[in-house]
Amino acid sequence: MPEAHIPHIVTERDFDGPSLSGLTVGVVGYGSQGSAQALNLRDSGVEVSVGLRDGSPTAESAVGAGFRVVEVGEAATADVVALLVPDEVLPHVFEHEMAPALRVGQTLVLAHGFALLFGGLEVPDGIDVVLVAPMGPGAILRERYTTGSGLPAAFAVHQDATGNARRTALEYGRAIGCARVGLFETTVAEETEIDLFAEQAVLAGGVTRLIEAAFDVLVEAGYDPAMAYMECLYELELTVNLVHRYGISGMRDRISRTALFGDLTRGDRIIGEETRAGMRRVLEDVRSGVFARELEDDVSKRGEGTEAALKAARERLLSRVEDVIAPVAHPNREDVSEGGQAGGGTSRKR
Ligand code: NAD
Ligand code: MG
Repeated sequence: MPEAHIPHIVTERDFDGPSLSGLTVGVVGYGSQGSAQALNLRDSGVEVSVGLRDGSPTAESAVGAGFRVVEVGEAATADVVALLVPDEVLPHVFEHEMAPALRVGQTLVLAHGFALLFGGLEVPDGIDVVLVAPMGPGAILRERYTTGSGLPAAFAVHQDATGNARRTALEYGRAIGCARVGLFETTVAEETEIDLFAEQAVLAGGVTRLIEAAFDVLVEAGYDPAMAYMECLYELELTVNLVHRYGISGMRDRISRTALFGDLTRGDRIIGEETRAGMRRVLEDVRSGVFARELEDDVSKRGEGTEAALKAARERLLSRVEDVIAPVAHPNREDVSEGGQAGGGTSRKR
């Protein structure tokens, strides 16, 4: 086991004076991250313009929020330009709409490393390129900011032309509220690879399969699907909240003796060597670019494969049970923020 290396996490205490003082920021894209970051930057005292393509469906909302909405090429003339469009179109938008407007000494900010690592994005010399990746969806980034808190973020320097890239990244992260919790230094490769792996192994792929498998085993054994749903899925919220707040040890301090004994004596039978081997193969596909190529192929076929797999999943018993029970068991679903996806990246929703 490697020794735990506790990194230096940059927080508000590490700054003095205002952030991005005297610099203008152009935010390109006004979706989940774009809208949240533009609003937070403005509330931190930064001068922001929003760059959108002609006929953009989000223009109305950006104008409604009081932003100066300009063409992408004009937003790209700001001192700091945050390119917050979907990763699959990002290199194209950069090359065709931004690159012609850029000049030496500007900073390009990205919220995920995917386009740099796997999308072929190339930025000319003379431009600083940094990553500031909030660890959560835009809606939460904005909500936390307005209540005086924030989301943590990862930051990295990809290209340092001016010698100031790291400082700009830190100040940008602070201006969107992330230093209120903490800025974690990383590299583009690390952020991108861990982000994709975590979505696949835990946040989306792992958790859904764990629930489905447990549900199927109970139903096969003759138990009531509604009860199986409540015990295996609905009650997950408690565990997730405790683990999120207190870590795994803190969660174990707070559950019943019976639950703890079951965890310690049975958990390894559920996630054993076979699952770990599967995770290693998943990580290898991420690192080698095999996953990115498959995704690109699916996007080029208008998501055919994704849609077919989703349709099959919708036909499972669990899906039919949840259609009935989720609204009953969770009557206040409206207050859960929309626009989330587990990690950075490759959202299917627009
Ligand atoms: P989004 O889909 O919510 O918003 C994208 C915006 O780009 C919209 O305003 C859309 O109108 C605009 N757009 C789409 N195609 C365009 C085009 N061809 N030209 C110009 N504009 C176009 O995207 P998002 O989730 O905010 O993702 C933006 C970046 O943030 C990505 O790099 C993503 O990986 C990263 N990120 C997202 C999350 C998240 O939870 N959503 C978290 C961390 C990082
Ligand atoms: Mg992520």
